[in-house]
Amino acid sequence: MKDDLSLSQAWLEALKTFEFDAAELAEFERQLSAQVEQHLQASERPGLSNNSKIEQCFYSSELPKQAQSYADYSRLINQAVSGTVNTTRPDFIGHMTSALPAFMPVVQKLMAALNQNNVKLETSGYFTDLERQVLAMLHRCFFSAGRSSEQLDRFYQGHMHQPKQAFGVFCSGGTLANIMALWVARNRLLSKYHLADKGLLGAMSAMAADGYLGLAVLVSERGHYSLSKAADVLGLGRENLIAVAVDDKHRMDMSALREQVAELQNRRIKILALVAVAGATETGSIDPLNEMADLADELNCHLHVDGAWGGAAIFSTQHRNKLAGIERADSITLDAHKQLYVPMGAGMVLFKDPEHVNAIKQHASYIIRSDSKDLGAYTLEGSRPAVSLLLHAGLHLIGSAGYGALVDHSVAMAKAFAELIEASDDFELILQPELNILAYRYCPPADRALLALALADANEAELEKINKRLSAQTVAIQIAQAAATQGFVSRTQLHLPHYGRDPIHVLRVVLANPYTQLKHLQQILAEQREIVAKSI
Ligand SMILES: *Cc1c(COP(=O)(O)O)cnc(C)c1O
Repeated sequence: MKDDLSLSQAWLEALKTFEFDAAELAEFERQLSAQVEQHLQASERPGLSNNSKIEQCFYSSELPKQAQSYADYSRLINQAVSGTVNTTRPDFIGHMTSALPAFMPVVQKLMAALNQNNVKLETSGYFTDLERQVLAMLHRCFFSAGRSSEQLDRFYQGHMHQPKQAFGVFCSGGTLANIMALWVARNRLLSKYHLADKGLLGAMSAMAADGYLGLAVLVSERGHYSLSKAADVLGLGRENLIAVAVDDKHRMDMSALREQVAELQNRRIKILALVAVAGATETGSIDPLNEMADLADELNCHLHVDGAWGGAAIFSTQHRNKLAGIERADSITLDAHKQLYVPMGAGMVLFKDPEHVNAIKQHASYIIRSDSKDLGAYTLEGSRPAVSLLLHAGLHLIGSAGYGALVDHSVAMAKAFAELIEASDDFELILQPELNILAYRYCPPADRALLALALADANEAELEKINKRLSAQTVAIQIAQAAATQGFVSRTQLHLPHYGRDPIHVLRVVLANPYTQLKHLQQILAEQREIVAKSI
């Protein structure tokens, strides 16, 4: 061995960053925490259109060659922190990202310190068991109907740590979870054509001989765009993800669904899966789960429930009945980084039958052995953090009753906001909240009178004209408010058949931040009125 192996100055300096210098690190941490604190406590948020000043800090494309000091880096990163979106604000109610329980960053620090890789037992130890346990706990929440707790204890103890089984899979979010659910469904349906090895093209002629001229997945028009990504990466084709019309509550229209199914069957296209949405991203609506489960039984196809947003309602004794029928799903997507208040990067798919994951099982002799309980055999991702730990912490430190109370409160807050809007004469409630998402727009009495007249006369052209003008105003309000420094709501387009052919723009509100109070909602409306007053 060369004895100058450790003499490079650069190496020695790089090595120093691996060493634990308590005083130096404590100071670095103090500086970063102070920045975060200051940013999150600020009374104003950086308006969304003020980005040009911030952008200038991020134009250099040169690599930093020499190591910087912690102090210099702390100053550098502060520029980025100061321009982040304060998602914890009680008046930030436009998206599904909100405040976190204070213990989450602490637990996340433990995750980083231990640096476990849940791809396999050899790099995660007990964290693999912990992940399997968390998946079993959630599985039991959704799939326990009709069995005694002794039966359930026995069932879950018997299956949760079995090498060839998994109650679900953790992944980075709802998108991956939806892809994984349809991946399992696809491979199960087409296993006899050796699809996983031959690919869709390789398996096509054998499939055609059996009368499958194509495959389709059906979801309502309110389905999340991640399903379209899934159709693309799984080789199904985005056109074969069929968007079915919704009823006036934005739920799957069952007769439209049955018509679509009949039409596809006429064309000898096999229905791979029905996807039911439980808490649609734009509207919060929940599809008729039992009716869709009946149809999936008839068709003998996979039923996936996308519960990325609404699945958390299972913890609420007041609202879980809205998920009736979910226990009949073959798979369920959940997002812990939404209503389970876990930091970004935590999604899950649960499989009713713990054997079904074998449809996507992969081995590699150096890493995932076929007889091991390594979770990496069943994940799309390889190396993977133990985000299950964050949910484990949430389940223990908040508890299912606590999670239920959080859901109850945010649903009550959405209802209160809806009442506030309905009681006003210048805002129009477009969507009653099913859970905690609602939509509305600014629509003063004069416009309401015009709308009512056009509706009474069934005057399509007039209706279209008024809605076009109101839509332009809605967009302008949302942009102006986002650019200002207080409240924030988002906007989307909804097709409302009774309002004409064209979709209308609406303001969208997601109420999940436990700090949001009625006074913040009143303030949001006041700001919007002010924006309108200024623009006239
Ligand atoms: C958020 C969401 C998704 C996607 O989840 P990501 O975590 O953003 O990948 C899928 N479906 C629904 C209904 C969602 O609300």
